[in-house]
Amino acid sequence: MKCPHCHRDTQVKDTRLQADGTIRRRRVCESGHKFSTWETMTNVMALIESRRKSVRAWKARNPEKVKALNHRRKRRQEARNESVATGRPIEEIYQLWGVA
Ligand SMILES: [Zn+2]
Repeated sequence: MKCPHCHRDTQVKDTRLQADGTIRRRRVCESGHKFSTWETMTNVMALIESRRKSVRAWKARNPEKVKALNHRRKRRQEARNESVATGRPIEEIYQLWGVA
């Protein structure tokens, strides 16, 4: 990472795993600035669930857009099948069918 003081490259001088599972690193930059960083695991599952919730809410508010998206997805799948069956480039079929 870059030094927060002078934005030059830094080196890790020391890495310590803390009792709570976080990782502390001592860093020093090319100009000699010293600082520490702490790494902690993000709760990835909570982020995914939160994203799912907001997508569900958006879908509930926009049924017409969902319908249009589903239709487009279906047409693009059909275009991919057409590409496999005919050997024509997929982008060409997308263009032709208006689903690019
Ligand atoms: Zn620096």
